[in-house]
Amino acid sequence: MSGFDTVIVVDWSARSAPSPARPTADAIWIGTVRDGAAADTTYLRTRAAAEAWLAETVAAERAAGRRVLAGFDFPFGYPAGFAAAVTGRPDPLALWAALAAEVTDGPDNANNRWDVARRLNRRFPGVGPFWGCPPGEASADLPARGTERRDHGLPERRRTEADLPRAQPCWKLYTTGSVGSQALLGLPVLHRLRERFGADLSVAPFEAGDTGIVLAEVFPSLIADAVAARQDPDEVRDSVQVRVLAEALARLPPDRLAAMLAEGDPEEGWILGRGHEDALRAAAAAIPNLAPPPLRDDCFALPAGVDWTPVDEALGLLRDRLAVVVPVEEVALAGAAGRILGRDVVAMRPNPPEPNTAVDGYGFAAAAGQGAENRLPLVTGRAAAGRPHGGAVPEGHGIRVLTGAALPPGVDTVVLDEDTRADAGVIAFRGPVRPGANTRRAGEDVGEGDVALRAGRRLTPPDLALAAAVGHGTLAVRRTLRVAILSTGDEIVEPGARIAAGQIHDANRPMLAAILERWGFDVLDLGRCPDDRAMLRARFDRAGAEADALLTSGGASAGDEDHVSALLQEAGAMASWRIALKPGRPLALGLWNGVPVFGLPGNPVAALVCTLVFARPALGLLAGEAWHAPQGFEVPAGFEKRKKPGRREYLRARMRDGHAEVFHSEGSGRISGLSWAEGLVELPDGALDVRSGDPVRFIPWGSFGL
Ligand code: AMP
Ligand code: MG
Repeated sequence: MSGFDTVIVVDWSARSAPSPARPTADAIWIGTVRDGAAADTTYLRTRAAAEAWLAETVAAERAAGRRVLAGFDFPFGYPAGFAAAVTGRPDPLALWAALAAEVTDGPDNANNRWDVARRLNRRFPGVGPFWGCPPGEASADLPARGTERRDHGLPERRRTEADLPRAQPCWKLYTTGSVGSQALLGLPVLHRLRERFGADLSVAPFEAGDTGIVLAEVFPSLIADAVAARQDPDEVRDSVQVRVLAEALARLPPDRLAAMLAEGDPEEGWILGRGHEDALRAAAAAIPNLAPPPLRDDCFALPAGVDWTPVDEALGLLRDRLAVVVPVEEVALAGAAGRILGRDVVAMRPNPPEPNTAVDGYGFAAAAGQGAENRLPLVTGRAAAGRPHGGAVPEGHGIRVLTGAALPPGVDTVVLDEDTRADAGVIAFRGPVRPGANTRRAGEDVGEGDVALRAGRRLTPPDLALAAAVGHGTLAVRRTLRVAILSTGDEIVEPGARIAAGQIHDANRPMLAAILERWGFDVLDLGRCPDDRAMLRARFDRAGAEADALLTSGGASAGDEDHVSALLQEAGAMASWRIALKPGRPLALGLWNGVPVFGLPGNPVAALVCTLVFARPALGLLAGEAWHAPQGFEVPAGFEKRKKPGRREYLRARMRDGHAEVFHSEGSGRISGLSWAEGLVELPDGALDVRSGDPVRFIPWGSFGL
C-alpha cells in the first residue's frame, strides 16, 4: 500500500479535570498534516473531546479516500510478561480490551485510574509494579514511591526504551511526565477506535499494516533538538512537538516509514522511528517555515510608469499579491458561525443518512400501490424518527410511518395520512401512487465524501446546520484576523471630547471599528496620533507586533504633514496608489514589519469608499476568505448626471420606489450623506450621461458586508 495522506500526532494527557480554556501544555495537543502541507494544531481540553475529535477526523479522512497514520505519545504495550499475567495471553491488544473494561473516564476527565492500578497490582506478588499517586491514595496496593516496590517480578522497562533516559517507565503514574497514567487512560480510547474502524484499522507493530488507518506509538523527544529548533516564541511546546513530529513523519520516504512501522516487539510494542532518529531529524530539518509565508516586500509595488491606476487593475493587483496570513485552528461547531472555513468540509455521512419518510402516513412497496383502489393489511408496530421498525415489511403489507422515520426493509413508497382511510388494521387509498412518493433517498441532499462546504467561506448559521448534518462536531477555521485602526491628524480629538479652535472630532475611527467588527475581524484600537513622525512610528511598530493589518486614516497624500505615506515610503515597501476613483485621493499601501498598512484618505466619505472597495477584499484574502466582489444590481436611475471619462465614481445612494436616488451633494466631507445613503451607485470609468430611468449599478451596504 502507498504512503499516508494524513499524519496525526497526539500528545495525550492524564489530567483529572478539563484543561484550561486558554491553551496550556497540560492538555491534549494534536498535530495534523495533510498531503505534506504545513501542520494544523488542535487544542483539546478533555479526553472525551479528543476521542470524539479523533473518531470524527479519521472518519472524515477515510470518507475522502485518504490513508491515515495516527501516532500517540504513550506506550502501546507493557514490559514482557504483563499482558499475559492480566489476560492469560501475551497479547497487548487483549490487554487494551481488558483496560477498556476496567477504566471509567468521564466527560470532565474524572476517572478511576488509582482503583484500576490497585486492582492490577493485586494480581502480582510483592508490591507494584504500578506506583505513584496523590498522598491520600497511597497504600500497600499502590505505593507512593517507586522504591517501596518489591518482588512483583516484572521488568522495569521495555526494550524500545533501553538507553532512552528521557522515556519514563510505564509503571510510574504520578507527577508530570509520568506516562503511566496516560497509557492507562489512553489505551481504552485506542481500543474503542479499533472497534469503531474494524478491519480498516491496524496497530503497529502488533498487526500487519496494510490498512487505511494505522495507529503507532510515537515519542516526540526522540527528536527533541529538531523540535526545539522550530519553537516559536509564543507557542506552547506541546504544540510545536506535535506539529513538527507530524510533519517529519509525513516527509519520510513512504518505504522508509513502512519499514519503521513493521519493526518492534510483538508484546511490548515499539516507539515509531526508534533507531531511525537521524532520518526523522533530517525530515524535520526539511520542514519549511510553518506559518503562512510572509507577504512579499513588493506586494504593493505598482508597475513602472503607471500614473492613474484604474479601479479594476488596482483590485487585480491586490488579488494577485495578497494571501492568507493566519493559520488554521479547530473549533467547536457551535462557536464557528462567522469564522472563515480553513479546510473543505467533507461529508462523513450522507444527508439524509438513510432513506426515510417525509410525511406522516403509511409505507409499503411501490408495487402494492399501483391499483386504482388499494387495500393493504398493516403490520403491527410502526416506524418513527429515531425508533426504527425492527423487521422487514412483507410484500402486499403496509406500515404506519411518522415523519423522519427510516424506511424499514420492504418499504420504498409512502402515502399521506390524508389520502388514506385506516380501519381495523387495513388501509385503503387510491392509486396508482408514484414509486418513491413522499420519501427521501439516502444521500439525495449530500452524498458521503462530497465537499459540503468549501474552504474560504465565512460560515453562516445554515452552514453550521449542514456541517452538523454531515457528521461534524468541530470545524477547521482560520484564526481571526486582527486589524489595527489609527486616526491621524493634529486636528483630530476623541468623539465627545471638548473642542478647541481648529479641532474636529474623530469620525473615521468609530466607523471603521464598527465595519471591521461586522466583517468578523478582531479590532485593535490604536487611537489617535498627531502628525508627528516619531509618534506615528511607535504606533506602526505596535501594529506590526500585535496585528495582522493596519488601517489608518488621514495623512496619506504627499503633502508636508502627510506622515503616513512618508513613513511607509521610508520603510521602502510603500506605493502611493493614485487610483482613478472618486471620491478617494491616493491610497497609501505599504508593509510595516511585514504587516500590510492601508493608508486611507482622511475625508470620511473617501475613507469609507476606499475601505469598502479596496480594504474589504484585501483584508478578506489576508483572513483566508475567497475574493469578494460585491453583488450589485442594475436598477433605473432616479437622478440625472453627466460624468467625465477617466475615473470610476461612487455616489451615495439609496433605493426608493424602485429607483436609485443619490445624495444631493457630492462633497467628500458631507458625512450626513453617508448616513443618509443605504449603498453606493457605481458609475463606470468612461464618460456617461445618465438620464432618469437609465440602468445604473446599485450596490447596497449589505453587499459590502455592512
Ligand atoms: P488628510 O487626508 O489628513 O489630508 O485629511 C483630509 C480631510 O479629512 C481633512 O479635512 C481632515 O481634517 C479630515 N479628517 C482626517 N481624519 C479625520 C477623521 N478621523 N475624522 C474626520 N475627519 C477627518
Ligand atoms: Mg491630515
